[in-house]
Amino acid sequence: PLSTADLIEEHRICVCVRKRPLNKRELTAKDLDVITIPSKDVVMVHEPKQKVDLTRYLENQTFRFDYAFDDTTTNELVYRFTARPLVETIFERGMATCFAYGQTGSGKTHTMGGDFSGKNQDCAKGVYALAARDVFLMLKKPHYKKLDLQVYATFFEIYSGKVFDLLNRKAKLRVLEDGKQQVQVVGLQEREVRCTEDVLKLIEVGNSCRTSGQTSANAHSSRSHAVFQIILRRNRKMHGKFSLIDLAGNERGADTSSADRQTRLEGAEINKSLLALKECIRALGRNKPHTPFRASKLTQVLRDSFIGENSRTCMIATISPGMASCENTLNTLRYANRVK
Ligand code: ADP
Ligand code: MG
Repeated sequence: PLSTADLIEEHRICVCVRKRPLNKRELTAKDLDVITIPSKDVVMVHEPKQKVDLTRYLENQTFRFDYAFDDTTTNELVYRFTARPLVETIFERGMATCFAYGQTGSGKTHTMGGDFSGKNQDCAKGVYALAARDVFLMLKKPHYKKLDLQVYATFFEIYSGKVFDLLNRKAKLRVLEDGKQQVQVVGLQEREVRCTEDVLKLIEVGNSCRTSGQTSANAHSSRSHAVFQIILRRNRKMHGKFSLIDLAGNERGADTSSADRQTRLEGAEINKSLLALKECIRALGRNKPHTPFRASKLTQVLRDSFIGENSRTCMIATISPGMASCENTLNTLRYANRVK
């Protein structure tokens, strides 16, 4: 029989998978789509045992999640089933987190930050902007209007265990923990925002800051976690907080065997933070008194979101459809499976 604890877990953690379409490069290389989504919560991986004869040596693996989104799903729809329910949480004095987890190139930034290239209007806005839009809509409701809440945003990045402010020219910030176990990112810029456009501008500022001085934008973003937060305050006191996180590429864990020392250290740090994240989310779901948040900078700065009665989280695991990505895809699905 289901217990109260099961009920809490059920509502607190949502884990979903999103498959992206095959891209031009994969199509040109004649990569095969090995992922099917036969129903709204099932993902199947058709892993060829031998690449020689696909029709005869297919090994199927099935995974079940809260939702599985196929490659035709828009950002708006993904958002509606993942982060949208958490907007209420922050109005009800709660803490919410939404993570995009997956290998580099699988669609984390597309999902969270959106795609501003103009090619695809459906996906122009990502979860950051869509959540902000609904926060401003909720503020207009009479019930919340009378609370007189202010909305603020922060945008920072965690790179090799260090925190950098993306709204303040990448200033390096210190993380302090006081005697009451309150964790504070010292000097983090918190900008007041009054409409979705304000938020879009901040995302643009942060994104350009994130990639500046880097030879390849993706090379850098694949090694860092980007954290965008929407904070509700009432008389300057915290009312609720929504943290939206575009995680470092999970394939970076493999860098631990790289010949380059810096790359190796970064890979180890990413591994550590993704493992710590999994443990913290699991602890949240099991209502455990001890959350191992100190195990990484990422979980440390998110500490207040992992504790408390009214904390909820969702994870969007993004996957590439190609056979060439099969191993990474399976790793992503196994990790996502273990989170809940
Ligand atoms: P990541 O942030 O995980 O490294 P990106 O979000 O940058 O990956 O996605 C890699 C490329 O694939 C981008 O050009 C992006 O626009 C495209 N892409 C990702 N997800 C989708 C999707 N669901 N539909 C269409 N294109 C997508
Ligand atoms: Mg990215």
